[in-house]
Amino acid sequence: MAKVVTRFAPSPTGHLHIGGARTAIFSWLLARHHGGEFVLRIEDTDRERSEQQYTDAILASMEWLGLSWDAEPVYQSQRDDLYNKYIDQLLAEGKAYYCDCTAEEVEAMREEARALGKKPKYNGKCREMGLKKADGRVVRFKAPLTGRTVWKDLVKGSIAFDNEELDDMIIRRSDGSPTYNLAVVVDDHSQEISHVLRGDDHVNNTPKQIMVYEALGWEVPQFGHVPMILGSDRKKLSKRHGAKSVMEYEKMGLLPQALVNYLVRLGWSYGDQEIFALDELIEKFSTDNLSSSAAGFDPDKLLWLN
Ligand code: GLU
Repeated sequence: MAKVVTRFAPSPTGHLHIGGARTAIFSWLLARHHGGEFVLRIEDTDRERSEQQYTDAILASMEWLGLSWDAEPVYQSQRDDLYNKYIDQLLAEGKAYYCDCTAEEVEAMREEARALGKKPKYNGKCREMGLKKADGRVVRFKAPLTGRTVWKDLVKGSIAFDNEELDDMIIRRSDGSPTYNLAVVVDDHSQEISHVLRGDDHVNNTPKQIMVYEALGWEVPQFGHVPMILGSDRKKLSKRHGAKSVMEYEKMGLLPQALVNYLVRLGWSYGDQEIFALDELIEKFSTDNLSSSAAGFDPDKLLWLN
C-alpha cells in the first residue's frame, strides 16, 4: 500500500467530545497500523465561533489520550491564499463561475424545484452569464448535471449519489472566504491524505468533495464514514445522555487507556477480546472490523473501567 496518511480535522468551537475523540482514535490507529502519518488540521474558518482556547484544549485532550501527531497542526484560517489559488484556477478553467443571485432569488428557485417534486437547488441561472468579479458576488462550482458519483466507503460499502441531486455549491462567499467543501479538498490534497475517516454526518458532503477533486484533476482519497454514537434513546449522543467531554473524564480521574478502549470498542470489535493495550490496538486495527451501524453509549459501562 502507498504511504498511509490520515488526519483529524476538528472545528475549535468547543472541547473535544467523545464522538470526535473516537473518530480521531480510528484515524490515528489506521495511520499507526500502517506505519504512516497522522496529521491535524484545525478547521477554524468559522471565525465567530472558533476560539484558541478550544484549539489548545482539543490538543491537550489528544495528548492525554496518547494520540501523537506527526507535523505541526495546520490552521485553515491561515490558508486563504491557497484556497483562492484553486478557486481562481477553477474560474479560469470555466469550472466555476461568479453569481449575483440574491438569497431571495435562490430561495424562490428552491421553492420552484420543491413544487415540482425535485430536490431544491440553485437553478444555474448565472452559469453561462460570464459575470466578472465584483463586490457581493459569490463563486459557485459547476456541478456535473448527469451521471453518478460513486465511492467504496471503507465502513459503509458502496455509496452512490445521482449527480442530478448535486447543487452548484458556493465555494467562495461574498466576503471572500472559502466554504468548507472547497477548503477541505484543498487541505486533504495538500496534506497528502490517503484515507479520510470521519463521522457519517459528512456522507452528504463526500460527493461534493469528490467532484472538486475531479475538477482539479486530483486523486480522490479513500473515504470511511464512522457511524455516530447514540444515546439510550437512539438519538445522537449529547450531554443529556450523560456523555462528557474528554477533558471532564480526565478531571474525573478516568485513565486515558480506559477511555480509548471504551471508545474503540463502541464500533470496532476483535473477537471476544475486551481490553487492549494501545500497542495491541495498533497491531490489530483494520477498518474491516469497523461496524457500519451506530453504536450506543452507556455511561454505566464506562464507569466500570474507572
Ligand atoms: N471540521 C469538521 C467537523 O468537525 C470535520 C471535517 C472533516 O473531517 O472532513 O465536523
